[in-house]
Amino acid sequence: MEYLNEVLETLKAKNGNEAEFLQAAYEVLTSLKPVIEKHPEYRNIALLERITEPERLIMFRVPWVDDNGKVQVNRGFRVQFNGAIGPYKGGLRFHPSVNQSIMKFLAFEQCFKNALTGLPIGGGKGGSDFNPKGKSDMEIMRFCQSFMSELYKHIGQDVDVPAGDIGVGGREIGYLFGQYRKLRNAYEAGVLTGKGLEYGGSLARTEATGYGLIYFMREMLKANGKDLEGKTVIISGSGNVAIYACEKAQQYGAKVVAMSDSNGCIYDANGINLDIVKQIKEVERGRIKEYANRVSGSVYTEDVNCRNIWKIKADIALPCATQNEINLEDAKSLVANGVFAVGEGANMPTNIEAIEYFLEKGVLLAPAKAANAGGVATSALEMSQNSMRYSWTFDEVDRKLDDIMTNIFKACEKAANEYGLGKNYVAGANIAAFDKISKAMIAQGII
Ligand code: NDP
Repeated sequence: MEYLNEVLETLKAKNGNEAEFLQAAYEVLTSLKPVIEKHPEYRNIALLERITEPERLIMFRVPWVDDNGKVQVNRGFRVQFNGAIGPYKGGLRFHPSVNQSIMKFLAFEQCFKNALTGLPIGGGKGGSDFNPKGKSDMEIMRFCQSFMSELYKHIGQDVDVPAGDIGVGGREIGYLFGQYRKLRNAYEAGVLTGKGLEYGGSLARTEATGYGLIYFMREMLKANGKDLEGKTVIISGSGNVAIYACEKAQQYGAKVVAMSDSNGCIYDANGINLDIVKQIKEVERGRIKEYANRVSGSVYTEDVNCRNIWKIKADIALPCATQNEINLEDAKSLVANGVFAVGEGANMPTNIEAIEYFLEKGVLLAPAKAANAGGVATSALEMSQNSMRYSWTFDEVDRKLDDIMTNIFKACEKAANEYGLGKNYVAGANIAAFDKISKAMIAQGII
């Protein structure tokens, strides 16, 4: 496959120091091989070169003053990757690990995810290397205000619509929205999603990514003659995605026995008490370690890389923390312990060797681009409600989310079948999304 190899080589040469971006691009492009073979004409219009180059990347200084009066400087980003099917859309991540490579990988993946939702949204992502841990409310507010003082020039409800991601939840979205409204002197509710219910937020947005992951998992299991009832589940992370994936899995009768954060993991053989996790993580903003102090019989293990969780025996694993949290060794231990399905709640949580191992061993793998698209899909529903100046009930939004996730699974399954790829839903998702984006790009000419 000469064209594909050439594009991969050029990408490597141009982005040699961007490991995460190269990993994401490699995973997508190699899975598109059968499509490219069918369409040699794509070479003439440099379709792959264009789809892997962001339309725009903005990097900016974010100065702010901490509680001691000391001036701090962070780096802000917004990557507007592909706007062919709608305004750029994607979250903001505040985490010390944030850099250009991570921003580009997330924005690239977002284009494909958004296309799969069937809604008119292009792909983008942004954030900062700011570390919100241990900061006071006022420090968070000052940082968000400074961040928005630059970002507002580049976004808008028909231009680019950010939302939350790691380190950016309801509190941060509130401060960001307040500053945007002040600078624009206009109430453009659709400029950010994940807003509070009092000022234009959508019911079920908080739950959407986690619930959506389980709806996708339900469909994938159903298509393979299985279900969630009575299954043992392990979930990494204890943030927004992990908590609501746990809630919905429990509602379907699964037993979640482990969760984690970046310091370690808890194991509760009786099944995780989610009310206690919510109290610790959502209310107290504390550490998951606390769970073991409050629930007798549960065990906490310290673990900097968050990998101990993958040694626990289970039927289903849901990585919901961060990128590359499952490597080949983890994949081997999961398979050896009987895991038959993996649902990616986090973005790119499984590295390439681990994906290949799962597929080779017949593990059902729900890829992030498809399986965690419920969050952005519900964000798009929030934008629709903002445009209509109207709110749907929780059940209405949840039903739409369920339909969207069911359709995404069907699209992945159909694309995999069409190309004779069996249960490879990873390739199915990439192909189905590429089909939509590429058609829109071709129709719009060389831009
Ligand atoms: P949160 O910040 O709410 O939670 C993240 C969780 O993962 C926390 O428990 C955190 O632990 C843990 N974590 C973060 N970084 C690491 C790390 N380097 N090593 C170990 N654990 C880590 O984020 P979300 O739940 O929103 O996001 C989780 C994942 O889901 C991300 O990959 C995100 O991109 C993806 N995602 C999120 C969507 C959303 O709607 N929120 C939508 C689609 C994807 P600690 O508390 O110690 O930091």
